[in-house]
Amino acid sequence: MVDRVYNFSPGPGTLPVDVLQQASRDVVNFKETGIGLIEMSHRSKEFMAVAENTENLLRELMEIPDNYKVLFLQGGASSQFYMIPMNLLGNGKKATYLNTGTWSKKAIKEAKLFGDIEVAYSSEEQTFNRVPTKDEYSVGQDSEYLYFVSNNTIYGTQFPEFPETDKLLISDMSSDILSRKIDVSKFGLIFAGAQKNMGPAGVTIVIIREDLLEKTPDNTPTMLCYKTHADKGSMFNTPPCFAIYAVGEVLKWLKKQGGVAAMETRNIEKAELLYNQIDSGDYYRGHAEKDSRSLMNIPFNLPTAELEAKFIAEATEVGLNGLKGHRSIGGCRASIYNAFPREGVEKLVAFMKEFEASNKA
Ligand SMILES: *Cc1c(COP(=O)(O)O)cnc(C)c1O
Repeated sequence: MVDRVYNFSPGPGTLPVDVLQQASRDVVNFKETGIGLIEMSHRSKEFMAVAENTENLLRELMEIPDNYKVLFLQGGASSQFYMIPMNLLGNGKKATYLNTGTWSKKAIKEAKLFGDIEVAYSSEEQTFNRVPTKDEYSVGQDSEYLYFVSNNTIYGTQFPEFPETDKLLISDMSSDILSRKIDVSKFGLIFAGAQKNMGPAGVTIVIIREDLLEKTPDNTPTMLCYKTHADKGSMFNTPPCFAIYAVGEVLKWLKKQGGVAAMETRNIEKAELLYNQIDSGDYYRGHAEKDSRSLMNIPFNLPTAELEAKFIAEATEVGLNGLKGHRSIGGCRASIYNAFPREGVEKLVAFMKEFEASNKA
């Protein structure tokens, strides 16, 4: 087997090696059919079983109630920025958004094309280094829904608890779905691009409460109505077959690891290792305020940009890849999704100690 490095990429992110190996076999010859998985009809009984398996596992692992539909869509998580207001925000109606980073900002821009958008909270002036507590914003009585991003991939913040509202609650969970236990019944809609925490790029998962499927205005293009895909089990047109398959394999792996609760425990432990190192002195500085820290993406800085460049280069040489921070805040960022092994975090922490010792002024 090729030597693998520790891949701290923010997305597409690292996947379990067992899943990659199984996929490499199935792509050539799926279940002894003599046909590769990605050259097979999406309506074949083999592929239908794959899609069903992925959906069922997701339902089981996330305990999704029966009155929710699970959709496998294309167009990336970014397409949800317009699909949500297009389907769920009536003409001239109001919706409330919490602005906690790049992804919420983009969602707000799209939503403004459809209705009256109220930004009830923003941490933009403090470079998005925190998320709000419940008493820092309110949702107007005339608002249709409250939208928030549960984990801010770029700035490394995460809602420790979810907003509470009597309005529809909608969340972009692209970078922390399946990383911690959540109560789906509190939400109207949850969506996530697969490529951060549950598979390859190409499929976006939407979990939507059934009654909301009826809200879409009549003049909405067929492909952009949630109901189109819900009614046809995400097979209205050719779905992203490989991505749906690969998500299913990741879910099987996740179940074998003990499910979401086990993942959550491990994610807390992994993040603690790294935050403890960051907090151990003043050489490394975390970007996020402590109460808002993400368990998935951990951006941090060194004393100077020169040292950061040196750190990233030397880390790469010892097999710690993808640590360069996003261009909007610079510095370093370690993304440690579900499939990222604890040993990789331990190796990074050891490297950080050595680097500090040999580069401290
Ligand atoms: C990556 C990301 C997106 C964008 O996903 P695409 O599939 O590239 O459109 C949206 N939201 C969050 C939280 C992300 O991390």
